[in-house]
Amino acid sequence: MSAPAIAIQEYATLSDADCDARIRAAKEKLGDRAVILGHHYQREEVYRHADLTGDSLKLAKLAAGVDAEYIVFCGVHFMAEVADIMSKPEQVAILPDMAAGCSMADMADLANVERAWREIDAVMQKHGRAAEDEVTPITYVNSAADLKGFCGRHGGICCTSTNAQGVLEWAFARREKVLFFPDQHLGRNTAAKMGISLDDMAVWDFDKPNGGLSDQEILDAKVLLWKGFCSVHQMFKPEHIDQFREKHPDAKIISHPECSYEVCQKSDLVGSTEFIQEHLRNAEPGSKWLVGTELNLVNRLHNEMKPKGVDVYFMSPVVCMCSTMFRVDPQHLCWTLENLVEGHVVNRISVPGDVASNARTALDRMLEIAK
Ligand code: 13P
Ligand code: SF4
Repeated sequence: MSAPAIAIQEYATLSDADCDARIRAAKEKLGDRAVILGHHYQREEVYRHADLTGDSLKLAKLAAGVDAEYIVFCGVHFMAEVADIMSKPEQVAILPDMAAGCSMADMADLANVERAWREIDAVMQKHGRAAEDEVTPITYVNSAADLKGFCGRHGGICCTSTNAQGVLEWAFARREKVLFFPDQHLGRNTAAKMGISLDDMAVWDFDKPNGGLSDQEILDAKVLLWKGFCSVHQMFKPEHIDQFREKHPDAKIISHPECSYEVCQKSDLVGSTEFIQEHLRNAEPGSKWLVGTELNLVNRLHNEMKPKGVDVYFMSPVVCMCSTMFRVDPQHLCWTLENLVEGHVVNRISVPGDVASNARTALDRMLEIAK
């Protein structure tokens, strides 16, 4: 009989330095059998152990291409689900801390989205029309697998912050309207960039019947935006940009599209975490940048670029950190890897087959566009 799995409690008092050495040793023992994928928001003590890093799109593609037996995902729950869906059936996706969720993803669930779909359809049926013919559901990758499955089943698609515009173009080439969830900001910022007027967008309040909208508003809207948001990115305000520009008129502003419309409008550049990293890494010596995204990434870029003469500043005067990304600490990573060394899989993420195949449809449609 094999020994029982090692308990996480045994790691609670382990120092970060001890974890560091033990993670390296466990990685050495596991060799090619395990690959660690790390999102750019991971804390430094974890990020440094990642074999491959990226934004959500890059990590989804990497998960589909790696051969390792174990994919240890240092990120949040929906990302590990995508890794499980995109990888081969014999591969195992693992999330070091199951509490690492995404508060924005939690703002949409299958019951609410199915209700919204029925309500939109009921309004359209009164006019001899049907949601299935005219509305494309689009889920941001920051969502549970069953919502990706919903999109797969209803002719819809998934998107990330990198490819949202291509996905919206794909959708409008097929049907007249989109229902975009859960992030209203990514939906609004992307649609606005494509020239769609704010008047043609309506916010769907999932706590209210018919999203809090009149029949006419539902019929008229080209883009129905789910009332979800990222609490981290809502902390960045247009006045932070104004104040910074007053002091540093020559500075550039770069933001993530989960920031509000007003912040994105005032930014010089808007893009995913990978886009932000690439731009700052290629910035001219002597340039100054104000960055509107999560603190761990901004701090890392600040430290990396300082010796190269590039000044990187954080947009908010208060600490805006993704507390759920932060759940993956060196202790949980060490625990996960040492269990694998002992032959125990802990915290496996396994999306049920029917959900996974529909979700895969939505993800494959997205990846087809990004090719
Ligand atoms: P990226 O796809 O840009 O990495 O964004 C993921 C995310 O959760 C940002 O809050
Ligand atoms: Fe979710 Fe926001 Fe954290 Fe990104 S930063 S994982 S959207 S809570």
